Amino acid sequence: MNLAAEAMPRFASIEQAIERLNPVDPVYAVFPEKFRTAAARFLDAFPGDTLYAVKANPVPAILKQVWAAGIRHFDTASLGEVELVKGLLPDAICHFMAPVRLPGHAKVAFEKYGVTDYVVDCDAELDKLLAETGQAAKLRIFVRIATSLGGAVLELSSKFGSAPEEASKLLGRVAALGAAPAVTFHVGSQCLSPFSYAQAIEMAGRTARFAKVELQALDIGGGFPGPYLGNDVPPFHWYFDTIKQAMQTLPNPAIPLMCEPGRALSTEGMSLITQVVLRKGPRLYINDGRYGSFDELCQPGFLADFPLRAFTRSAKGKVTPLSGKTTPFRVFGPTCDTVDVLPRPLELPDSIAIGDFIVFDAMGAYSASSRSHFNGYYPDNWVCID
Ligand SMILES: *Cc1c(COP(=O)(O)O)cnc(C)c1O
Repeated sequence: MNLAAEAMPRFASIEQAIERLNPVDPVYAVFPEKFRTAAARFLDAFPGDTLYAVKANPVPAILKQVWAAGIRHFDTASLGEVELVKGLLPDAICHFMAPVRLPGHAKVAFEKYGVTDYVVDCDAELDKLLAETGQAAKLRIFVRIATSLGGAVLELSSKFGSAPEEASKLLGRVAALGAAPAVTFHVGSQCLSPFSYAQAIEMAGRTARFAKVELQALDIGGGFPGPYLGNDVPPFHWYFDTIKQAMQTLPNPAIPLMCEPGRALSTEGMSLITQVVLRKGPRLYINDGRYGSFDELCQPGFLADFPLRAFTRSAKGKVTPLSGKTTPFRVFGPTCDTVDVLPRPLELPDSIAIGDFIVFDAMGAYSASSRSHFNGYYPDNWVCID
């Protein structure tokens, strides 16, 4: 059942997996069809190249799903991710889209793996990049601009991104060096407002005008949302239509356009099967928690919840959904740490008991990628549902 062996047992449904396996450890259930649907949304309607942001879910079986779904470009934000992707998918095209790189990493990415797209948000990082690659003319260098906060559940502009004046100076420097000047941004993850992209695209155009530089590409980052509970997710065509309209505000609207969805390509393709290991009245203890698959859920400000279902399995193996009146349960993870508790109560059927199962859907993003071995737990069982 371990993925390292690449042997994912296949089942027709989640219920069948529970019936056959009666799993006491958490199980990741992968849906190839949902990966195809998510990729098709971008491949059919986004007016440019779609890069998969590897950090959302870098598990080899998932990278293969993304590839099989038709994605050929990868946002690899560290040398480790470049090596992972090129080792697994030699024909993949990698783009090194992190504005901070460890010493020597750009050199290896450029010389060994042929990576020519890089991001900078300050002079010092541009200096490092030039020193390591030595061939500005072969590079496309994206200046990362900070975007205004507001539209996203998780903001990403207080750590990275240069302010307008600095960005335009940097862009001017990139162009003067003979590299292809480009702009990128990230509006924040789980971005619920299409207009955040329009605003940022307009800023990219202003930055280029101010720098008197003709942009050669625009990369609008990730941020496209997953269908979590409690979030009003606009339809994807609103995003794409808004982006297309905003492109018209650029001096050269037909430049190559890219996006870097992580969550939107991975989250719906994976569910998580957990088991109730103990019930104390309105408190449930389950076999996974914040040190496993629920790290992101426990991030301050992540005000979204995973859709969930509960099942019971009879001694003979028959699996049936739990129904009836629900109540809020406080749900704890299995480790000895007090903070290992889900941030909000889960609404579950009253009758839920030891041995029952809670299945969380839309768990493909930022779950397996941030699990740890803390306290001797490490969720790593995988099944394929097709
Ligand atoms: C994390 C990240 C992404 C992916 O973001 P999502 O919100 O998961 O789409 C894309 N680009 C960069 C630079 C990132 O840091």
